Amino acid sequence: MTSVLPNPNHKKAKALKPSSRRPAKELCSECGLCDTYYIHYVKDACAFLNQQIAELEEEAHGRSRNLDNQDDWYFGVHQEMMAARKQEPIPGAQWTGIVSTIAIEMLTRGIVEGVVCVQNTEEDRFQPKPVIARTPEEILAARVNKPTLSPNLSILEQVEQSGMKRLLAIGVGCQIQALRAVEKQLGLEKLYVLGTPCVDNVTRAGLQKFLDTTSRSPDTVVYYEFMQDFRVHFKHEDGSTETVPFFGLKTNQLKDVFAPSCMSCFDYVNSLADLVVGYMGAPFGWQWIVVRNDRGQEMLNFVMDKLETQPVMSQGDRHQAVQQSIPAYDQGVTLPMWAAKLMGVVIERIGPKGLEYARFSIDSHFTRNYLYTKRNYPEKLEAHVPEYAKRIVSQYKLPES
Ligand code: FAD
Ligand code: SF4
Repeated sequence: MTSVLPNPNHKKAKALKPSSRRPAKELCSECGLCDTYYIHYVKDACAFLNQQIAELEEEAHGRSRNLDNQDDWYFGVHQEMMAARKQEPIPGAQWTGIVSTIAIEMLTRGIVEGVVCVQNTEEDRFQPKPVIARTPEEILAARVNKPTLSPNLSILEQVEQSGMKRLLAIGVGCQIQALRAVEKQLGLEKLYVLGTPCVDNVTRAGLQKFLDTTSRSPDTVVYYEFMQDFRVHFKHEDGSTETVPFFGLKTNQLKDVFAPSCMSCFDYVNSLADLVVGYMGAPFGWQWIVVRNDRGQEMLNFVMDKLETQPVMSQGDRHQAVQQSIPAYDQGVTLPMWAAKLMGVVIERIGPKGLEYARFSIDSHFTRNYLYTKRNYPEKLEAHVPEYAKRIVSQYKLPES
């Protein structure tokens, strides 16, 4: 690999780069852009300073969301959705390892020269360490979520300096919005973007508070996920699984735990990725795949022979549950554990499933985030909330103030 000098156009910006500088201030999600000379583009690129999802959708997918189509409001521009799982799951992956498998296939087939992904530091399994992986081993070392704000874009200077021309970037919505905004400056011939949905992210300190408040053994947690059965599943070092019903979470203590960026985010489904791999639109135990454009289809095709798939399904009606959850969350209501477990069992049996579960989760978060933004950043509300999110929120009655 040849090493090249950084683009001279960026040199002036580099001089501007005090690493503590974060123009989005407390709304900063630590996406990493401001750790690089691309900070020069921050006013345009930052997801929290300039919400431009519709414009960037046009550029990435050839069209923005069709606002007459409710599936577009919720899931973004897409060609196809499905439920899938690896026939042979990757041990230690977050779900079955579809994300890591796509990245490994694309690297070993020579489709890309490197993969932006997030490993963890040696000292701390949850402390993110963004890297450009150049071997399958380095990609595998990045498997499983680091459920903390991760400065993925801090490696952008290395991309340019390496002379790499074909890159796969894996990331969450705020990272991908900033990446799309500076994509043309990176000197790449081809950028593939593999996204995951993301919600309720935290700083490392916030994560500790969440684990301490919620798990029976916070120090041995190796993985956790808010699953489609309305429970948080914790996996511990000894292989045991602990489940805690959503309705038993100590909402009153956890209200401040989520990063302000995530409390004001309306890009849960990673609108600008070519391909999105999550779980929330799929039945329990399955992953959810959203193909947004032809490039996303190309990426998925590399692994189709390793997947078991089924069509997406949708069952139930979320509206009442969402409406009831709005004041409950707002007032920090916490149920006693026996009531939370009972409610969990009932809602699992009769509650929303498949795409309707995804809509339930999107509605609950968007109404909460709309209220948060309205109360804390009223001057930003109009421009920061995308039109599709306004339509979603308008289905519900919100507290006056
Ligand atoms: P793996 O093969 O285990 O690969 C995981 C990949 O995630 C790795 O490549 C790694 O680079 C990347 N990654 C890890 N941590 C971060 C991070 N902090 N920032 C950016 N990239 C990271 N899906 C939903 O459907 N609903 C949700 O609410 C939801 N919330 C999420 C919140 C976070 C913070 C993250 C990172 C993901 C979330 N997902 C959510 C996606 C889901 O949890 C799985 O990551 C996804 O289904 C892929 O699983 P896998 O087994 O294929 O991934
Ligand atoms: Fe900079 Fe990213 Fe923070 Fe915005 S979110 S201020 S682009 S580091």
